[in-house]
Amino acid sequence: MIFKDKLPVSYLLFTTRGRINRLTYWAASIFIWATFYVLFNLIEFIISYTATWTIYPLLFFALFATAVKRLHDTNKSGGWLFLALIPILGPAVLIYLLGFKRGSIQANRFGAVPDTAPDYFKNPDIKEKIVNDVTQINPVLVARVENPKTVEELQSIIKMSDRSICIGGGRFSMGGQTASEGSIHIDMRHLNNVIEFSSENKTIKVQAGIRWCDIQQYIDKYDLSVKIMQTYANFTVGGALSVNCHGRYIGLGSVILSVKSLDVILASGEFVHTSEKERPELFFATIGCYNALAVIVQVELDLEENVAVKRSHKKMPSEAYKKYFFENIRENKDIVFHNGDIYPPNYKNVRAVSWIKTKEKPTVKTRLMPLAAAYPIERYFIETFSKSHFGKWRREFIIDPIVFASKRIHWRNYEAGYDVLELEPESRKRNTYVLQEYFISVKKFNEFSASMSEIFTRYKVNVINVSIRHAKTDSGSLLAWAKDEVFAFVVWYKQGTSEMDKNKVAVWTRELIDISVSLNGSYYLPYQPHATKEQFHKAYPKAEKLFELKKQLDPTFKFRNVIWDTYYKSN
Ligand SMILES: Cc1cc2nc3c(=O)[nH]c(=O)nc-3n(C[C@H](O)[C@H](O)[C@H](O)COP(=O)(O)OP(=O)(O)OC[C@H]3O[C@@H](n4cnc5c(N)ncnc54)[C@H](O)[C@@H]3O)c2cc1C
Repeated sequence: MIFKDKLPVSYLLFTTRGRINRLTYWAASIFIWATFYVLFNLIEFIISYTATWTIYPLLFFALFATAVKRLHDTNKSGGWLFLALIPILGPAVLIYLLGFKRGSIQANRFGAVPDTAPDYFKNPDIKEKIVNDVTQINPVLVARVENPKTVEELQSIIKMSDRSICIGGGRFSMGGQTASEGSIHIDMRHLNNVIEFSSENKTIKVQAGIRWCDIQQYIDKYDLSVKIMQTYANFTVGGALSVNCHGRYIGLGSVILSVKSLDVILASGEFVHTSEKERPELFFATIGCYNALAVIVQVELDLEENVAVKRSHKKMPSEAYKKYFFENIRENKDIVFHNGDIYPPNYKNVRAVSWIKTKEKPTVKTRLMPLAAAYPIERYFIETFSKSHFGKWRREFIIDPIVFASKRIHWRNYEAGYDVLELEPESRKRNTYVLQEYFISVKKFNEFSASMSEIFTRYKVNVINVSIRHAKTDSGSLLAWAKDEVFAFVVWYKQGTSEMDKNKVAVWTRELIDISVSLNGSYYLPYQPHATKEQFHKAYPKAEKLFELKKQLDPTFKFRNVIWDTYYKSN
């Protein structure tokens, strides 16, 4: 741990490194002068006036250190303090610089913007061969971990391996999808280069370990955006393609609809180029198929224009949402993002939120999401909402009306650039926050919505939010979750971490899956694998075809993870 983390006050008062903003400078100055006043009087009272001279060096150094850091914030060196020697004008300029001038909005030569993080939240490198995911409730012991840095290295590991292999991207899936007991875990995150980019054709070719946030940084200067990705930008492209992710886009759907081609490595070590036209059986057995047959190495993706989008919102009864969506949202070409949030614990109301293309000036200073070192306000509210029905009531009737009162105009890249850190609780020891997702034909929205709320109420599930998204029919993945045009119900809830708690979750999850398959829908596989084999096959009827291909292309069952250990092993 570095000095700054251990002793933030000492760091603030007695070092000249880094930057502090105006607010911190004012707070530090008040603290310094107040402490000086108390110490001065105490020393004078207990010892003598002469003894007070001993605290002046401390006072001057603290004032000097905070002033230098504040100057750094405005991209000026500590040398500017010599201005104090110029009568009248010098001190006036200094007071302005220290107390009032806004700091640089980007990182400058003295460091990052105060209270911002240098990078998106990442799962740490794997220690002691235990692969775990972001929920911390799925530890799996592997034989070893490999971190290939070139395609050739990756190919050789796969070819030469006499053990089974499991693949990890960002490790944000929540049910052991990146691990299998005793196997070699390959961490793909070092294969993260941009290979080709064309701003005219609006395409980019990347290595699969790159994260969406890295792509956003690369293409933002060309006024381009990712066409389809998740709401959060921490995930790797390989991990997102393997689950066939979706976002909040209107008129789109799963990420497969934006993939031009893939380069993959098979269990034999063979390197293959595939697209909807070239070796299509591999293309459709790779995207959305959780490393069943192939490791994704390189991906060519479609891009879109980066436009400014303005937020609009409307609260309505849950039963009214479907009609509202069909009449106002579905065919509206100006809407880029849209979701509806169903409010627990009664599930009676929805807030529909759309982000609509606009020519107005963005209300945010940066084109990309600025990263924070911590999200104390978000953390406080999430905890409050999770604590009681009253907490959830406050969200619906007090907090959200305030949050949504302001005008918001963001860049598309900004709105697609959230950091998962904003959802991270202080601890995941006793409780953890987990996601689940159900995909239901748009026609069956009201039936599923009613059954879902009944199940959550009966099992007293601590649901924080249910976000509704929309997706068009998948183009053909063998594990397509959008078998036709669907609404996705993204459930974010809190659960205990004991075995008993996990079993309870398994029971209500299976009930929800039953409802969803009875409506010809499905459920999402990156989360806990509570579904029975029967439920899995009902939700994913083409899984048999995938298993046939796996027998041919991966006859020794080299590519494994908890999904295949659960649903393929004893098939
Ligand atoms: C807070 C949060 C919000 C989320 N929001 C959304 C959302 O809005 N929409 C959505 O669709 N999903 C969402 N998800 C789920 C997310 O899309 C998946 O968990 C995704 O897999 C995360 O990417 P990753 O890089 O962490 O993949 P990992 O978890 O590392 O891997 C997921 C699967 O992909 C496989 N894999 C990884 N890389 C490769 C590769 N190169 N080749 C072959 N297989 C590979 C792994 O073996 C594993 O089976 C969310 C998850 C979280 C935690």
